[in-house]
Amino acid sequence: MPASEDPNPPLRAEGGFPVVGIIGGGQLARMCQPPAVALSLTLSVLAETSTGSAALVVPHSPVGDHADVEAVRAFARSCDVVTFDHEHVPAHVLRALVEDGTSLHPSPEALLFAQDKLAMRRRLTELGIPCPRWSAARSQDEVQAFGDRVGWPVVAKTPRGGYDGKGVRLVRAAADLSDWLAVVGEPGPLADGILLEEAVGFRRELAAVVARSPSGQAAAYPVVETVQTDGICTEVLAPAPDLDDDLAVTCAEAALRIAGELDVTGILAVEIFEVTDPATGAPAYLVNELAMRPHNSGHWTIDGAVTSQFEQHLRAVLDLPLGQTSPRERWAVMANVLGGEQPDLYPTYRHLMARDPGLRVHLYGKGVRPGRKIGHVTVYGDDLTHLRERAGHAADYLRGVIDE
Ligand code: ADP
Repeated sequence: MPASEDPNPPLRAEGGFPVVGIIGGGQLARMCQPPAVALSLTLSVLAETSTGSAALVVPHSPVGDHADVEAVRAFARSCDVVTFDHEHVPAHVLRALVEDGTSLHPSPEALLFAQDKLAMRRRLTELGIPCPRWSAARSQDEVQAFGDRVGWPVVAKTPRGGYDGKGVRLVRAAADLSDWLAVVGEPGPLADGILLEEAVGFRRELAAVVARSPSGQAAAYPVVETVQTDGICTEVLAPAPDLDDDLAVTCAEAALRIAGELDVTGILAVEIFEVTDPATGAPAYLVNELAMRPHNSGHWTIDGAVTSQFEQHLRAVLDLPLGQTSPRERWAVMANVLGGEQPDLYPTYRHLMARDPGLRVHLYGKGVRPGRKIGHVTVYGDDLTHLRERAGHAADYLRGVIDE
C-alpha cells in the first residue's frame, strides 16, 4: 500500500527530531503541545478518549488505556522517549516498557515516590528531609496509638490514587477510619495500609518546581505560594511573597537534592508546608508530597518565566540543555478556572479579553462541570495586590460566580 494510504504511518519528524510520547491525555499533555511545536518535536499522546483535552490538539493521539500493557507497549514503540501526564500507570505496565527498552522518564524507580505516599515518606525520612510526623497504620489500635502520640485530629491519606484532596481525611477519632480500615490489605489504594500524618498547623503552602535531565543537569524555578480552597489549588503567587530568603534557598536546594537522590528526570514539583520552627520561631518547611510531571504550581511559567515548565519537561526528558527559569516580571499570579453552571464559555471569554488585554487565558478544551478544573488565567507585573484582583476576577467571571 502506498505510504499515503497507510492509516497508521510511522511517526517521524523532519530533520531527525525526536517523537515524545505522553501517557495520559489530560491538560498537562495538552500544554506540552505549544512548546513541542516551537522545539520542532513531534508529540504523541496515549489518550483516554479521542475528545480528551490533549487529543483535541495533538494530531497523533491513539486512544488506549494506560493500564492495558499491550496498548501502552504498542504506543511506546512509535516514540523515542515516553513520559507521563499523571502518575497512575501500574507497576507491571512500567516493567514491561523497561523490558522493551523504552526510554522512560521518569524511571519507574523514581516514579514510585510520586505514586505511593508511604514509599515517599519512608524515602524522604531516610534522606533526612523534614516531613510531618507520620506512620503507616493497618488497625484501629495503630490509629489510636498514633493520634495519642502526635495529638488529635490527625490527617489520614490513601497512599495511592489520591488527587485534589480526594483520599485525604481529617480524623478526630480512630473510629472515623473504620471504613478505610475494613479494606486495608485488599488490592487497591490501601493495600499497604493507611498513611497517617500529624495535622500540620502551617503558615501557608509553597511549592518548589525543579527540572533534572538524565545527564544530571538541574534547574529550579522560584519557590511559589499555592493557595488551596477545599483541598483544590485555586491560586499561585510567584514568587511566594515575603518568603524568608534563607527559607527560599533551603526549599529550592531540598527540591534539587530530592531530584538528584531519587534520580528524577523531567519536572519534579515538591509541595511544601511553611511552618514555624517551635524551638527558634524561625520559618521552616516540611515536605507534603511530590509530583514528577508539570504541576499546577508551575502553570504561571507559561506566561511568567523565560522557559515554561512544559518546555522544560520536554527538554529534560530528551536530555536537551535546560532553559532559563527566571521570571519575566516581578510577580506572576495564576488562578485556576473551575467550572460553574454555565456550559458556554465563549461569550464570557470574549468579555474578559476586552476588559483586560493583559490577561492570559488558558482553557483546556474540557467540558464544563461544577468544580472541575477547566483552565487557568495568568497575569504578571509589578503590583501584586492588583494582579491578584485581576486574576481572581477573571477566574470568578469564567466560573460564573460574578457577572460583571
Ligand atoms: P493530594 O494528593 O490529593 O493533592 P495532599 O497530600 O497534597 O493530597 O493533601 C491535600 C491538601 O490537604 C494539602 O494541600 C493540605 O492543604 C492538606 N494537608 C495534607 N496533608 C496535611 C497535613 N499533614 N497537615 C495539614 N494539612 C494537610
